[in-house]
Amino acid sequence: MVSMETRAEAPPVWARTAGEVLDDLGTSHDGLTAAEADRRYGEVGPNRLEAAARVPWWKRVLAQFQDTLIYILLASAAAKALLEDWVDFAVIMAVAVINAAIGLIQEGRAEKALDGIRAMLSVQADVLRDGAWTRLDADLLVPGDVVRLRGGDKVPADLRVLAATNLQAEESALTGESVPTAKSVGEVAQDAGVGDRHDMLFSGTLVTAGSGQGVVTATGPATEVGRIQTLVQEVEPVETPLSRQLDAFGKALALLIVVMALVMVLIGRLIHDFSVPDLVSATIGFAVAAVPEGLPALVTIILALGVQQMAARRAIVRRLPAVEALGSVTTVCSDKTGTLTKNEMTARVVVTRAHAYDVEGIGYAPTGRVLLDEEPADLATYRDLNAVVTVMGRCNDAEVHESDGRWSLVGVPTDGALRVLGLKAGLSEDGWERLDEIPFDSETKYMATLERDPTGARTLCVKGAPDRVLDRCARQHGADGRVEPLDRAWWESEIDRLGADGLRVLAAALRPVRHGDGSTIRDGDVDEDLVLLGLVGIVDPPRPEAVDAIAQCRRAGIRVKMITGDHAGTAVAIGREMGIVGEGGPEVLTGADLEAMSTEQLRAVVRDVDVFARTSPEHKIRIVSALQHHGEVVAMTGDGVNDAPALTQADVGVAMGIKGTEATKEAADVVLTDDNFATIERAVEEGRRIYDNVRKSVLFLLPTNGAQALVMLVAVVFGLTLPLQPVQVLWINMVTAVSLSFALAYEKAEPGVMDRPPRDPGTSVVDLTYGRRIVIVSLLIGGAALFVFYRSDDRGVPLDEAQTAAVTMLALGQLAYLFNSRFLDRSSLTPAVLRGNRAVWGASAAMLVAQLGFVYLPFMNTWFASAPIGLDVWAWTALLAVVVFLLVEAGKATDRWIAARGRVAE
Ligand code: ATP
Repeated sequence: MVSMETRAEAPPVWARTAGEVLDDLGTSHDGLTAAEADRRYGEVGPNRLEAAARVPWWKRVLAQFQDTLIYILLASAAAKALLEDWVDFAVIMAVAVINAAIGLIQEGRAEKALDGIRAMLSVQADVLRDGAWTRLDADLLVPGDVVRLRGGDKVPADLRVLAATNLQAEESALTGESVPTAKSVGEVAQDAGVGDRHDMLFSGTLVTAGSGQGVVTATGPATEVGRIQTLVQEVEPVETPLSRQLDAFGKALALLIVVMALVMVLIGRLIHDFSVPDLVSATIGFAVAAVPEGLPALVTIILALGVQQMAARRAIVRRLPAVEALGSVTTVCSDKTGTLTKNEMTARVVVTRAHAYDVEGIGYAPTGRVLLDEEPADLATYRDLNAVVTVMGRCNDAEVHESDGRWSLVGVPTDGALRVLGLKAGLSEDGWERLDEIPFDSETKYMATLERDPTGARTLCVKGAPDRVLDRCARQHGADGRVEPLDRAWWESEIDRLGADGLRVLAAALRPVRHGDGSTIRDGDVDEDLVLLGLVGIVDPPRPEAVDAIAQCRRAGIRVKMITGDHAGTAVAIGREMGIVGEGGPEVLTGADLEAMSTEQLRAVVRDVDVFARTSPEHKIRIVSALQHHGEVVAMTGDGVNDAPALTQADVGVAMGIKGTEATKEAADVVLTDDNFATIERAVEEGRRIYDNVRKSVLFLLPTNGAQALVMLVAVVFGLTLPLQPVQVLWINMVTAVSLSFALAYEKAEPGVMDRPPRDPGTSVVDLTYGRRIVIVSLLIGGAALFVFYRSDDRGVPLDEAQTAAVTMLALGQLAYLFNSRFLDRSSLTPAVLRGNRAVWGASAAMLVAQLGFVYLPFMNTWFASAPIGLDVWAWTALLAVVVFLLVEAGKATDRWIAARGRVAE
C-alpha cells in the first residue's frame, strides 16, 4: 500500500512539506497518468470501506416473530401442543414460519432495492489524470492522485492539502467537533492529533467552504476513518410513521382479540356448556382468524416497490418515511436556476455607461457576434466593451470544448455564458496570470480574482450580483472612458430594465492594485472602492416540462414557491412566465425584506407570496418554518452546502443530484437525478399512489380477518357447530394474505390522483368511512360463509364437506372483494376493473388453483380436514360472491353520495 503512514521511520505526511509528500508518493502537482493510476489500483484495490457486517440471519429470523399478533399465533400453537393435537400444532407453526419466511424475503427485497439506490448515490471526485481534470467515481482513487474540492464536497480519500483558498472542513464524523476547521498547506507538528492536522483532509468529512487541492495519501481501509472503523454504515431502519401507525393498530387489535376470546370462552362454557377441547379449538380458531399476519410485510413491500418505481422516475428516496410525506405535500419551495429553468445560460446584452450591445447566438457554441446598432463591435474600438468582457473572462472558472461539432461546458453555466461571450467578442487572454481568487459563494454572491496583466500590472477583478457589486463601487467607467463618480440611480434602472425581461444580470468591476501590495486577496479587499465597468444580461430559458408541472401542482392543490438568489425583477419575470404568481400578498419578497420582518410578520404573509428573491440559504429555513406554522407540509429543494439545514427542516428535503453538493444530498430525503422540477411533481404523484395502495391493501386484508372472526364468534355465542377448523382459518388467511393482497401493491394510480387536494397528514389510514366499510364487508362475507355452512349442515351434508363449502365461500368472497378493492372510492362496476393490473389476474389464478387443491387433493384433505364438494356448491358460492361484490359496490356508491352531500353542505 502506498500509504505514508505505514512507514515507521519517516515522519507522517502531515509533518512534511507538500513537495516532500508528492515526491514520496511518486507524483506531482500534475497528478498521475491514467496508466500509473490503473497500476496502483491493481495494488491497493478500490477506495471504499467494506460494508458493515449484516445482522446475522438468526437474528433477522427471530425478529420476524417479534410481533404481538404473531405471539397470539404462537400461544395458540402451544395450547394445541398441550392438547397433543399435533396436526393443528404443525399447521399453525407452519403458518408462523411461512409468514416469517415471507417477511424475510420481502425485507430482503426491500433492502436490496434500497441498497441499489444507495449505490446510485456514490461519491464523485474531480481528479487530475494525464494532466486533465476528469470526474471519476471516488472508488477509483489511488494514492498519488491529485483531487480538487470545493465547499459542499465530501472528501473522497485522505488528502494532504496542496492548495487552499479559504478552505474549511467539518470533521465531526472523525473528531466529534462540529465547528469547521480551517485547512492550509503548511505542515503541522508530528504529534498533532487528527483534529489538529490542518494540512490534511480526511475521507468521509465535508468541505464546508472555500476551495482547494490535495494529493491522496491513503484510500479505503488505510484512511483514518477506515482504520478506526467508526464509520459503521448506517442501515436506515425500515420504519415509517405509517408502519408505526399500523403497529399501534396491531397492538390494539391484539388486545381486542384476547378480550373477545375470553368473552367467548365464558359464554361457551357458562351458557352453552361446550366441552373444554371444543372451546379451546374455537378460541384458538377465533384468535387465529382475527390476526392479520400479512399486514406488516405487505406495507413494507408496497413502500419498497414504490421507492424502486420512484427511482426509475428519477427521484431517489433516501428515507422511507419521505414516500408518505411526499403524498401529503401542500407546498413545494423550489430553486429557480436549473430546476425551473434549463440552466443553459447565454449572454444576451452587455450594458456599459456608453452603449448597450447585443449578443448573437444561443447555447455554449461560440458562434455569433457582439453587435452595436446592428454592426459588429470589436474590442479594439470599444474599450468599454473590452473592459467588461475581460473582467468577465478572467474572473471565471469555466471552459467550453468542442467534440464532434458539439460544444460542452466544464464549469458552472453562469461562468460558461461569460466565457462564450469572451470567445464571441474575440477576447485574447495571452499574458494574463491569475495570482489569487475568492471563489463564488451564494452568501456573498460575487467572485473575485487578483490578476497580473501582460504589462505586469496587477488588478483586482470582481464579478457578481449587481446590487452586491454596486455596494462596493464608488466610481464607474464613464461614457467617455474616464473614471468618474458612480451614478447609482442610472445603473439601478438599467438592472431593473434587464431583470424585467427575465434576464439574469451580472456586474463587472475592477480596482488597480498598488505597487507593493501582496499577491493574495481577502474578502475585505473587495469591499474597497471598486470601479464599475458594466452589466451583462444572461438568458436562462424555463424548462417547458416545469411549466406543465407547475400547472399540474396547482390542480393538485399544491402551491409552488420560487426561492432564488437572483434579482427580484428577474425572478418575478420568470415566475410570471412559468405560472408562479402571488395572490393577495406582495408579489415578491427579497432577502432584505425578510430580514426586516419579524417572525410574526413573515407568518402573516408567507402563504401569499410565491416569489422570494435575493435570498441567502439561511432565509430558506425561516420560510419553511413560517409555512409549517400554518400546518403546511413543505418540500424544499436545495443544492448548495448551506441549504442542508433548510432541507432537514422541511418535511421533504429535495437535493439536486447533478448540481447538488454531497452535503446537501446527505441532508435530503429525496435526490433528483435530473435536477428537474417536473420530477418533484411526479414524485408527489407517486407518493399519493403508494399511500392509496397501502390503504387499498389494508381495506382488503382486514375484512378477511373480520369475516372469519365473525364466523367463529357467532358459532360459539349461539352454541352452534363450528363452521371452521382452526387449520382451515389459517388456510384462508395464508391464501388470501399471500396471494391476493400483494396484487394491490402493483395497482396503478387512481385517475385524477393529481386533481384532488393533498391528504391531511393527521388522518389515519382507516378513517370512519373506511372503518365502516371494513365492518360491513366482514358482515357480508362472514354472513355468506355462515349461510353456506348451516344450509349444508341442515341438509345433513357431512361436517367436513360443509366446512369445505364455508372455506370456499370465504375464498371466493375475498376474490370478489379484491375487485371492489382495486378502486378506493370509484365504482368497480366498469370494464376498467378487468384491466390495468396483471398481478390481479396472476394472484386470482394462483388462489383458485390453491383452493382446488384444498378441495380435491387427498393429502390436503387429510391436513386440513377438507373434503371434495360438488359443482352445485361451487355454483352457489360463486353466485353469493357476486352478490357480495354488488352489495359492496352499493355501499361504495352510498359513501360517494354521502361525501358529495358533505361537499355541497360545505
Ligand atoms: P437559485 O435560483 O437556484 O437560487 P441562483 O443561481 O439564482 O440559483 P445563486 O447561485 O446563489 O442563485 O446566485 C445568486 C446571484 O449571484 C446570481 O443572481 C448572480 O447575480 C450571482 N452569481 C451567480 N453565479 C455567479 C458566479 N459564478 N460568479 C459571480 N456571480 C454569480
